[in-house]
Amino acid sequence: MTKNEKKNKIAKVVRLLKKQYPEAICSLEYEGSGYKLLVMGRLSAQCTDERVNIVCRELFKKFPSAKSLADAEIEKIEEIIKPCGLYKMKAQNIKDSAYLLHYKYNDVVPCDMDTLLTFPGVGRKIANLLLGDLYKMPAIVADTHCMRICGRLGMYKNGEKNPLKTEKIMSELVAPSEQSDLCHRLVLFGREFCTAKSPKCSECPLKIICKDEIEIKKLGIERLDECLDTVWRVFSAFEVPIFPPEGAVTYKERIEKTRIDKDITFYGALHNDKVIGVLGIYENNHIGYFYIDKEYHGLGIARDLFTLLKKEHKGSITVNAMPYGVPVYTHLGFLPTEGEKNVDGIIFTPMRYEK
Ligand code: SF4
Repeated sequence: MTKNEKKNKIAKVVRLLKKQYPEAICSLEYEGSGYKLLVMGRLSAQCTDERVNIVCRELFKKFPSAKSLADAEIEKIEEIIKPCGLYKMKAQNIKDSAYLLHYKYNDVVPCDMDTLLTFPGVGRKIANLLLGDLYKMPAIVADTHCMRICGRLGMYKNGEKNPLKTEKIMSELVAPSEQSDLCHRLVLFGREFCTAKSPKCSECPLKIICKDEIEIKKLGIERLDECLDTVWRVFSAFEVPIFPPEGAVTYKERIEKTRIDKDITFYGALHNDKVIGVLGIYENNHIGYFYIDKEYHGLGIARDLFTLLKKEHKGSITVNAMPYGVPVYTHLGFLPTEGEKNVDGIIFTPMRYEK
């Protein structure tokens, strides 16, 4: 895969995971407090977030501020955080970090990577978590989920174990505004589907893009029947009436006419060489069919098809949009040319795209 192909692929992952997990929240319950996230981030090394949350309820009850933790007796901290493992080192690190935070930085977590790395026990993973969550800065948290899943998705060699390499590669591939949220979603996704052992690939919402690429290309007349059959396969269930210029007809009538006249160019989305989406445009630059298989919604295929069509067709492009299609065409840059029309009791909106 080229770098651009990887960027496109990860953009699709971002879109699908947003749908799957609308809330991109950190699984550490830090309640918006930089002090708490700093401590919890350190405790989470080789420990589950769930356990850190439980342990920290008691820890923050006893030591609610950086000052109280900085001034606490080390044995008392150790006793509470013992279930998180490596408790001697972690206790010393969080006490020393709390000291720095309170006495040197007036309880404000610094917002630059270099300063954060001077806090005891804070590595790039925690620093990125702090920058992304507290300051909404672009930040790839190269934790075990991120490293595993992005490798399986082909962003780099599967099985890559170097977090720095992962962070560098992913920060160049993921849009800066999406990085932090994506990492939170990858944690949720990694627990639910793309688990370390036995990932649930058959139920996975990313399986289409993980396993195979979707190809967008001009199909032309050679695959006309296949394109029309693809459209018909879905719409035959509805007998949806549509609007060629001569008035409302059924989809079947329209398809048969197109099959005979062959005055159309089809752009298609192919998955395993099967047509799963089509955009058909007549010689008069009027869109006749635009359809993406339901299973493939949310991958940005409509936009990809339209981008290719725009590149190849000169002049304005028109469409008679059904009510459910109006938002899609609007999103693609079409504007209504007149108000809604009612033909034989069916409502449509004539729309135009001007280059
Ligand atoms: S298809 Fe399987 S390997 Fe690919 S992202 Fe989904 S769960 Fe992970």
